[in-house]
Amino acid sequence: MNYYSPFLEVTRTILEAGGEDLKKCYQCGTCTAVCPWGIVREFSPRYIFKLAQHGLEGYEGDDLWLCSTCKTCVDRCPRGVGIINVFTSMRSIIAQTGLIPQTLRSVLGSVNSNGNPWAGKREERNLWAKELDVKRFSDGVEYLYFSCCAPSYDPRTKKIAISTARILREAGIDFGIFGKEESCCGESIKKTGDINTYEKLVNSNISLFNNNNVKKIIAQSPHCLYSFKNEYPNFSSSYEPIHYTQILSKIIREGKIRPKKEFKKKVTYHDPCYLGRHSGIYDEPREILKVIPGLEFVEMYRIRENSLCCGGGGARMWMETPKEERFGVLRIKEAISIGANVIATACPYCIPPPADGRTALGVENKIDVLDVSEILSNSIF
Ligand code: SF4
Ligand code: SF4
Repeated sequence: MNYYSPFLEVTRTILEAGGEDLKKCYQCGTCTAVCPWGIVREFSPRYIFKLAQHGLEGYEGDDLWLCSTCKTCVDRCPRGVGIINVFTSMRSIIAQTGLIPQTLRSVLGSVNSNGNPWAGKREERNLWAKELDVKRFSDGVEYLYFSCCAPSYDPRTKKIAISTARILREAGIDFGIFGKEESCCGESIKKTGDINTYEKLVNSNISLFNNNNVKKIIAQSPHCLYSFKNEYPNFSSSYEPIHYTQILSKIIREGKIRPKKEFKKKVTYHDPCYLGRHSGIYDEPREILKVIPGLEFVEMYRIRENSLCCGGGGARMWMETPKEERFGVLRIKEAISIGANVIATACPYCIPPPADGRTALGVENKIDVLDVSEILSNSIF
């Protein structure tokens, strides 16, 4: 006899939505033990998996959207469960019922009307490049430089795109931008659970890229890098994306640019989750920092594969986190404990959380948060 259970139906839907790995979980609890949320509050990915295996019966609240997709648990899970994929599938199913967290709704509204989550007008996407006179990408230009939405609209991170573009130009790299024609890469939008909006963004970019014969992409953000590398091929389109630190470290090695001005600071480096654990790029940002004259490089305790997430991934960038639970505060404390007066990073999403942490702790005079491109640019120009 076949019994119909709405909960079994939910589990089946999660499996069909890309969460097949749910079946592999044998409830060992390793994910819960290594998740950075455990440092600041109760959160159990293992328990959410258990609920999902039983049709989410008893699930309530927004805990599913706490996951910042840092990948720490995925790398440690003894069963090789694609925990982030399963969470994303679950978010997509809950999102279909309209139960997406309130704070994400305005973000998705902006993405749908302007092509970016920052509520910026589409025609203002290339304003950061106005004074640099960067050309539009066209067939035959070697690289598309993809600035990411944050540096296109956020006044603080805009400086990152400007620094990177100035260095690329100084080194004679042939690159162009699309500005208002391009849209958000979609990486974090997928993590909200709104798969329709995500697919719309990806298809719009792919059609723009293919119509203009894009082959190589310099990504400012590790999130865009991840998306172009791992997700765009699922839409039958592949490009050669590289992260900006990869090309900057290469042109330094080739002698095309020469840092010369001293930066007399004790600098530590925060590995962004999507550059490190997700993309395996750990050395290039460090190589760049180590050639800056006068810069003293120091490492924190949680580095490389064990880096502590800043808390901005997985769409958390647009969600409120109570002050006492912010990972950015922990990162600032760690950097200060080793005597650093600058945290350098290489992701536009990794700037605001420690910068807010600085303010929350009242230590703005003690420590700065800068992108690797800004430190390099200051040393060149
Ligand atoms: S670590 Fe893997 S197997 Fe263990 S509870 Fe988490 S998801 Fe399940
Ligand atoms: S990906 Fe990171 S934040 Fe998400 S459950 Fe795993 S360890 Fe926690």
